[in-house]
Amino acid sequence: MEFWILAFDYNDYIFDIMRKKIIAGNWKMNKSHQDGMELLLQLFKLIEDEDILPEDSGNKLPEVVIAPSFIFLSDAAGIVQAWEAKIAAQNCSSESDGAYTGEVSASMLKSINVDYVIIGHSERRNYFQETNQIVAKKISLVLENNMSVICCIGESISERDSGKEFQIITHQIEECLFHLNNEQIKNIVIAYEPVWAIGTGKNATPEQAQEMHNYIRSVISGKFGKETSENISIIYGGSCNPQNAKSIFSQPDVDGGLIGGASLNAKDFVEVIKAAI
Ligand code: PEP
Repeated sequence: MEFWILAFDYNDYIFDIMRKKIIAGNWKMNKSHQDGMELLLQLFKLIEDEDILPEDSGNKLPEVVIAPSFIFLSDAAGIVQAWEAKIAAQNCSSESDGAYTGEVSASMLKSINVDYVIIGHSERRNYFQETNQIVAKKISLVLENNMSVICCIGESISERDSGKEFQIITHQIEECLFHLNNEQIKNIVIAYEPVWAIGTGKNATPEQAQEMHNYIRSVISGKFGKETSENISIIYGGSCNPQNAKSIFSQPDVDGGLIGGASLNAKDFVEVIKAAI
């Protein structure tokens, strides 16, 4: 009996944990074309000066992802990808193609070599009425077009104050991600972004972030298994900056960050990247 339990434990945990650290800069609706390209050139010059290029830091350097506006993606991709970083769109259409004036499809993004698409950001949920169902549809389209997804989830302040944060997060994960299969989930990064922390200067404490990231991993494990849950990157977003990044990123279940305000300044963003090394 004792031997069986030992063997079971051994088999249950026999897999490599290879999850990536990721620092993604979400520029939102900021920067002109000229300012954006200048920011990228400054950023990668600083990265070079600080000796934190991928080849210098082995596999310790987090993956750097930049998410500018749609209209700068092509030009930004040329700069970003030359530095072995990745480019992300901030959104895509929930339709695959057709008469949807003003929309940008997942296949269009793929055709200009976009690596990631951010889906379900709270600003899209709140200002553009994106439901979990719309988020799930967009995620499927991004994956069908062979890109990766940064899927944003997070509770509002009233949901946290009424003790419903775990319930809300469970619901978002179930409705946004549980339609995926075991291969598709491997191309998902989850961004835990408490809505009360986004752009407010009031970040989650490292303990709050760790508690929720660990919980999210357990929900993923329940559906997709332990190996998948240990290998999925779960990044934190919400008023992350050079001052608080290190303490948040040093939590065991926090695999980097989705950074808004601090990604608009090259020096600050490099400090945040360094905090994840
Ligand atoms: C975000 O927009 O995803 C974000 C986390 O913004 P900020 O860092 O400005 O709070």
